[in-house]
Amino acid sequence: MFKFLWWPYKVIFKHRGLSHHPIFGPLTILINFALIFMPVLVVLGFNLIQLPLDITVAAATGFMLSIEMHILADMVASELT
Ligand SMILES: [Zn+2]
Repeated sequence: MFKFLWWPYKVIFKHRGLSHHPIFGPLTILINFALIFMPVLVVLGFNLIQLPLDITVAAATGFMLSIEMHILADMVASELT
């Protein structure tokens, strides 16, 4: 349902390109998230500045770990093929 949020990212960054660098990958995805999804949250009434720190840290950790796991899985998959 929210695939449209990733359309600009998918156009700019091809799969297994810069998006799969261990540092630049998560950063580019985080910037995409900030530019597209955060304004949507603000329009919906979320006050991003007053989000609790523990929730912000947990969300950022989950965000980064999921990206790094994807990068590792792709590295293993590319070695097997
Ligand atoms: Zn991938």
